[in-house]
Amino acid sequence: MSEIRVERLSKRFHETAALDAVSLGFAAGSFTALLGPSGCGKTTMLRLIAGFEAPSEGSVFFGKELMADPRRQVPPEARGVGVVFQSYALWPHMDVAANVAYPLKARHVERGAIAGRVGAVLDIVGLGGFEGRRIEELSGGQRQRVALARCLVADARIILFDEPLANLDMHLRASMVDAFRDIHRRTGATIVYVTHDQAEALALADRVAIMSRGKVLQAAAPQEVYRAPANATIAGFVGRGSIVAGTVVDPAGKTATVDIAGYRLMARSAGTSAGPAQILLRPEALRISPEGIPATVLDSIYRGPVHEVRLALSAPEQGSRQELLIDSTETLAVGQKVHIAASDAWVVPDV
Ligand code: ADP
Ligand code: MG
Repeated sequence: MSEIRVERLSKRFHETAALDAVSLGFAAGSFTALLGPSGCGKTTMLRLIAGFEAPSEGSVFFGKELMADPRRQVPPEARGVGVVFQSYALWPHMDVAANVAYPLKARHVERGAIAGRVGAVLDIVGLGGFEGRRIEELSGGQRQRVALARCLVADARIILFDEPLANLDMHLRASMVDAFRDIHRRTGATIVYVTHDQAEALALADRVAIMSRGKVLQAAAPQEVYRAPANATIAGFVGRGSIVAGTVVDPAGKTATVDIAGYRLMARSAGTSAGPAQILLRPEALRISPEGIPATVLDSIYRGPVHEVRLALSAPEQGSRQELLIDSTETLAVGQKVHIAASDAWVVPDV
């Protein structure tokens, strides 16, 4: 059974449908990333689950228990949900221990038990021994860890994160990704994690829900969202890659034969029919080969392990110029004519 379930959940702010009839379950102990561009309704979804906002329509359940519908809402403090926002909302004048201990004091937990519990969660977030430091003395990454510790100390079964790493630099974000995975392993909590960063979503979550304009377009394992995006919007949003126009020659179930610029190759598909189609090609599945899709090098960027090479298809279908991105270990010259073989391709469903 889902630990959290939203059913036909909608939220309108005046004319804006921030959330539009979304139905989605979150299994107990799962780690779901809500991924989508700014303004697509991610925060609104979290606020409705936490109880900071009431639905315009639809409902929120925790297990079998109704938390909210347009007529009735369980208040946030009675939902037992932990929430961490992008802004840390810490008390700057208090020390780390006092900030972390706050939820326990509010619940009148016995004094003697508090210090041990605070020390334990500070260890989990890598801030063991920081009890006496003032918030003002901490870096951004350390402050975010304190906010995380304060959330963990309450021992919530459901934890909601709203872009918790958005204010951190790239290096810190990477180390925090490890911290989040570790927290999920240790607590077994049901986590809903909002981000607009697709790399973060793929790295962290066991399921990614892709949102756009108040709707969930696809909710699936990271591998599936990456390898078999349900439409072109998702394909463009998750990972690098090119979507090129081709022709399905032989639909043949899950592996279709497709023609791209006069070259035939096999592509995975969710079931398609013969005729024009959009084909997703990921850079890591493409290589220069004696035979393949004919193309011309447009430019090449050195990325360290590989050159990221942008190519123009030599015989573009439908007259328009089409580009292909490949990762090449060889250096290629601009204007060079090559052929590209594909070890994997995906017929993007036409929806
Ligand atoms: P995200 O978190 O994905 O960036 P939000 O859930 O914050 O998106 O917002 C979704 C849409 O709802 C946006 O168009 C936003 O402007 C609007 N919105 C969110 N909160 C409010 C509010 N309190 N009042 C009016 N409009 C809002
Ligand atoms: Mg937001």
